[in-house]
Amino acid sequence: MLRGSLSVAALALLLTSLSSVQAQNVQVQFVETPGLFRRPNKTITPVTNIDVPMPRLKIKKTGLLASRLSDKHRLRWKAITDLVLAQTPTGTPLHPVLSELWRWADSSSHIIQVELIESTNIQSSSAGSFNIEQFDPTGRCHRTTLKLYISNIDVAVSGPQVARRNGFIPFAGLRKEERYAEVLGHELAHVKYVLSNAMRSHLVHELVETTNDLLLLHARTRPMSTASPEMKQRLIQRDALLREIEPQAESIEEVVWQELTASKKSRTNLIPGTRNHRR
Ligand SMILES: [Zn+2]
Repeated sequence: MLRGSLSVAALALLLTSLSSVQAQNVQVQFVETPGLFRRPNKTITPVTNIDVPMPRLKIKKTGLLASRLSDKHRLRWKAITDLVLAQTPTGTPLHPVLSELWRWADSSSHIIQVELIESTNIQSSSAGSFNIEQFDPTGRCHRTTLKLYISNIDVAVSGPQVARRNGFIPFAGLRKEERYAEVLGHELAHVKYVLSNAMRSHLVHELVETTNDLLLLHARTRPMSTASPEMKQRLIQRDALLREIEPQAESIEEVVWQELTASKKSRTNLIPGTRNHRR
């Protein structure tokens, strides 16, 4: 294939050769004469391609995701994570149950969006919540949300008046971030319990999430007394499922509280920086 402009001599050679031999066998050796056919005012803009080495971009798509957090909340989330994954100088986890739950969630194939809710207008008194936003029928990647209601946690009363049936007092003796870590432990217990079992994930989505949505829709227009028998049956099933799930998370929360309480002394003795987790 010929490229560029042919010099007069080369064009003459090509035309001569074409008349006597097969075109595909013609070999033309062409050396372009600079400037021979160049138009006087035409400027040629040189195009230069430069390969710039770029660092590899790693975008985390599954596990615990902080992409919905503001800059301020990202710092808070990092402080909570550092506490959860704190280790002794020799690398022993200070909170083995809590950090194992964190790692399970973070390395799972599901999307777990973390949200820190800080507002004086929160209508519920919840300390945390875990919801399946979008159920994946294949079971591989459910879209979920884990919320910590930090304003509620900050003002939550801790004392004998809020002791659970077995005597456990949530947040007893814990400071700000330690309280968040206790609630996180409770919610991460839900995360693992629900997401590690396909049937449980399905039941939670169908009986808790869908029922709550239907309930909300109904309550907007009519009083609850007018709910259909099917809706009432759904509510009974939802509450039965929640009664099964909640004690499991509460027992884990108690273990997490014990870990956080036991590690207080070790953490105050740690040199700043060794609290940072290794990833
Ligand atoms: Zn719970």
